[in-house]
Amino acid sequence: MAYQRVLLKLSGEALMGDLGYGIDPQIVSDIAKDIAAVVASGVQVAIVVGGGNIFRGVQASAKGMDRATADYIGMIATVMNAMTLQDALEQIDIPTRVQTAIAMQEVAEPYIRRRAIRHLEKGRVVIFGAGSGNPFFTTDTTAALRAAEIDAEVIFKATKVDGIYDSDPAKNPQAKRYESLTYSHVLANDLRVMDGTAIALCKENDIPIMVFNLFEKSNIVRAVQGEPVGTIVGGSCAVK
Ligand code: UDP
Repeated sequence: MAYQRVLLKLSGEALMGDLGYGIDPQIVSDIAKDIAAVVASGVQVAIVVGGGNIFRGVQASAKGMDRATADYIGMIATVMNAMTLQDALEQIDIPTRVQTAIAMQEVAEPYIRRRAIRHLEKGRVVIFGAGSGNPFFTTDTTAALRAAEIDAEVIFKATKVDGIYDSDPAKNPQAKRYESLTYSHVLANDLRVMDGTAIALCKENDIPIMVFNLFEKSNIVRAVQGEPVGTIVGGSCAVK
């Protein structure tokens, strides 16, 4: 395996499948099986889950809701996803802990960095719920933050496409996929890989981001084995 400790960023939409809202249990179960294969190979896996399949603060605030309140609701939505994924992992005997950035100790541990690292060292999957605990942030930025905190070697950003293209592959059949890109290129060209805050945080901490298609079979395992399954952003190995 190319990595020892990785951080996987799953958007809420990844758990939704084709449903349009909420959680598709079959998709979650498939993702859990892929994660189990990675864990079985001895790689430590931390996960940040989004909440966009249930609630997005920025959308609700555009319709008149107070932004901070809407963002707190969005963060709570991510905890539902985190607990769902925990259940799917534990169904297949992968010990998993959810840690939340907003305390809800009846259902999950509070986020404690050293404890999260200890869980990982023991081979448990750690899912970080409730984003960063702060409104006006995203779970992409949370992924960058937690990856830096726990010393993850790489962020795997699971998406619906197999990397970053120079134009929209859905609209342009000639669109070219990048194998690797610098953080600066992503920021300067406003490529919508992750929000700018997340990219900047990764750049500052030299954490590479692998953008890959979650829905191709075994892609998580292949990515962790170091296969170029998508586009890698930044990191000395990736700079073009
Ligand atoms: N959110 C937040 N602070 C954070 C992370 C998330 O306020 O640190 C809120 C925000 O309202 C966001 C929602 O939680 O819209 C769901 O997260 P996100 O949109 O990042 O999920 P994803 O797009 O990955 O599904």
